[in-house]
Amino acid sequence: MDHETAVSRAKDIADRILVPAARQNDKDARFSSEAIAALGSSGLLAITLPADIGGSGLGPRTLAAVVATLAEADASTAMVYLMHICATATIASARAGATVAPTLKDIAAGRHLSTLAFSEAGSRSHFWAPVSRGKRNGANVRITAKKSWVTSAGHAQSYVVSALAPDGKGPTDSTLYLVASNKPGLSVAGPWDGFGMRANASAPMTLEDCEVEPGFQLTDDGAGFKAMLEVVLPLFNLGTSAVALGLSRAAVAGTVTHLKTARFEHLGATLGESLPTLRAQLATMQIDTDGLAARIDDLVDHLERPRETTVLRVLESKAAAGDVAIAVTSVAMRACGGAAFSRHMAIERLFRDAHAGVVMAPTGDVLREFIGKALLGIPLF
Ligand SMILES: Cc1cc2nc3c(=O)[nH]c(=O)nc-3n(C[C@H](O)[C@H](O)[C@H](O)COP(=O)(O)OP(=O)(O)OC[C@H]3O[C@@H](n4cnc5c(N)ncnc54)[C@H](O)[C@@H]3O)c2cc1C
Repeated sequence: MDHETAVSRAKDIADRILVPAARQNDKDARFSSEAIAALGSSGLLAITLPADIGGSGLGPRTLAAVVATLAEADASTAMVYLMHICATATIASARAGATVAPTLKDIAAGRHLSTLAFSEAGSRSHFWAPVSRGKRNGANVRITAKKSWVTSAGHAQSYVVSALAPDGKGPTDSTLYLVASNKPGLSVAGPWDGFGMRANASAPMTLEDCEVEPGFQLTDDGAGFKAMLEVVLPLFNLGTSAVALGLSRAAVAGTVTHLKTARFEHLGATLGESLPTLRAQLATMQIDTDGLAARIDDLVDHLERPRETTVLRVLESKAAAGDVAIAVTSVAMRACGGAAFSRHMAIERLFRDAHAGVVMAPTGDVLREFIGKALLGIPLF
């Protein structure tokens, strides 16, 4: 599959499956298994896997375009997809000797969804510092942990789980493990009833003496932190920026439709024809959305050709994107007035979904902390 094919398959799934169901799935907080099945059979669950293990070997440019296309239709499904891509990259870069071939084969075949279980109740948004610690049990490791939010909880076939290494000395000496969904001791610990992203099953999960064999240890002891920063963070920050772009584009499109169709009958004109303030608000939304698209292009370029400024761009992109999506969807709420407020349109779902971007770790505040420290030469952790 090439870039154009991937994006057109994402658009097809968005039009056929996501758009018709997004409103009801949001209302019912229902996870779309149909969407995941379609993403699997279209090959999109494996676009970033290397060709020699059955993937399409596509890079950040395609990932960003696919995620933005899905998010424009349904941000919940786009986040499910993104978490899967981040988990897949972690599994694919597992240490030598890890038993990941069967999982990668299933991902390549489109029948395996994975996700990340990093955040813990104890360390909250500081995902880089799990408070759970693996305990040695012969050759195996036993994990007991309270994972506070896990996208696709109860729907994924596997979870990439973090815990402090059994002998780790510091708070970031974590290890990553691959835990199959049917592993005894792993369970969904509650329902997901979020303000936004309601259809992505981001429920809490617990691991209770969950036994992990050596083959399912993805990183060396203590090397989980490195994988989080080097493998996951660039993809996650790019992908969440692309979700923000999809949401912003959908808000612009929804506002255009409303301003062109809703009418002041007593004036004989549409809202858009009647009110310059609404045209100016729409213009501001468009300017911000195109600005975000340009920022994402720039990040893609930095990821394709890494250089000194790449780390900063990775941090900046998610921080900026979250704010853009909130700003654009907020203006849309205002421009579309009572029609948006009373849930006649998708705008209020976009507004709610947009707020997830800044609280998903690394949060917008934490990213600003990192950027400020980096500029001043202060160690980040
Ligand atoms: C929809 C959704 C899906 C999610 N999916 C997953 C998932 O699949 N896997 C996963 O591991 N996690 C997931 N998470 C969890 C997410 O990554 C964060 O861990 C979580 O949202 C943090 O919330 P909290 O209340 O614990 O934040 P807190 O840590 O309590 O933060 C509260 C506030 O303090 C600020 N703050 C915290 N630390 C600092 C700092 N050092 N400097 C400045 N400000 C700071 C934050 O920005 C925030 O505004 C998900 C969250 C959501 C909302």
